[in-house]
Amino acid sequence: MKRISLVICSCLFYGTLFSQGASTSVTKMDFENYNPTSTLVVPGHIVTRSRFPFIDVHNHQRDMGSRALGSLVTEMDSLNMKVMVNLSGGSGNSLKQSLESVKAAYPNRFIIFANIGFNGIGEKGWTEKAVQQLEQDVKNGANGLKIFKNLGFSVKDNEGKRVPVNDPRLDAIWAKCGELKIPVLIHTADPKPFWDNVDEHNERWMEIVTHPGRKRGADNPVPWETLMDEQHAIFKKHRNTTFIAAHFGWFPNDLARLGQLLDGLPNVVVEFGAVIAELGRQPIMARNFFTRYQDRILFGKDSWVPEEYKTYFRVLETADEYFPYHKKYHAFWSMYGLGLSEDILKKVYYKNALRIIPNIDKTLFPK
Ligand SMILES: [Zn+2]
Repeated sequence: MKRISLVICSCLFYGTLFSQGASTSVTKMDFENYNPTSTLVVPGHIVTRSRFPFIDVHNHQRDMGSRALGSLVTEMDSLNMKVMVNLSGGSGNSLKQSLESVKAAYPNRFIIFANIGFNGIGEKGWTEKAVQQLEQDVKNGANGLKIFKNLGFSVKDNEGKRVPVNDPRLDAIWAKCGELKIPVLIHTADPKPFWDNVDEHNERWMEIVTHPGRKRGADNPVPWETLMDEQHAIFKKHRNTTFIAAHFGWFPNDLARLGQLLDGLPNVVVEFGAVIAELGRQPIMARNFFTRYQDRILFGKDSWVPEEYKTYFRVLETADEYFPYHKKYHAFWSMYGLGLSEDILKKVYYKNALRIIPNIDKTLFPK
């Protein structure tokens, strides 16, 4: 594994210490191990429950059809999460089973999105079959479609060619979602630094060396910009379909550009799963963005680690300064709170999701 050494030698204090022969002091240390305790003393507020009940629109739960959901609901309650949107619904029978078990046990606590099976794309009749399956899945109770990042990255057609996100053979699916009035939550590509050189200038260096499979390149499979353009092309082409761009569309670190995108595409909203650390390092820019686009932002988290939600709540709700994030390979920097107003918090926590995702029980939420 490539390592970066942090050399602590310029400080006069250490210089004095070493000259006096303090042999236990560390002069070199791996970046991964350098984790200084902040000496900053400022007011701080740990937020373990959201101020208002919320809907997490980006969650993944498997086997909902076969397992008891009680402990999951208890964990949701502890966070004040009233509704979880499970994006890993699959399709056909397994989806139906999940929908039935939810309906029997906790009918108003879960929403499930269907997925598309891309196997055989290119074969005669594939598109028609996929559209029919989706219609059936929605009839069975699915309330949205989730597209995983394998579309664009690894999905191949029957001739072995990469299927671009804006492949015309998928147009009928996007159009059908508009007709059925269900949103498409779509994750395309990954953070741009995964395409960049893995060196001391790369902000995701630690993530790439700890997860080498995430490294991408211009030919693996295509440049980052190509994937983003493909995604934006379907947003533009299917104006009657609502798209939820996952992970702030991978522009959480360039909110001006994301704003331009949203300005031109009224059918697109965003969620901030796995990118709260980007927002928490630019509290002024992010607060302005949340003010301007308060009707276009949904709460999403992605990985189900209940303990980590408190970082999200704290960034959104408080005006705290310089507090820790929970995953160093996403962010080696500290967080600042955006201090959002109650009106904006309510929209982000539940009102926008209620407007966009069908069949959520509105009585679970304040007016
Ligand atoms: Zn996800």
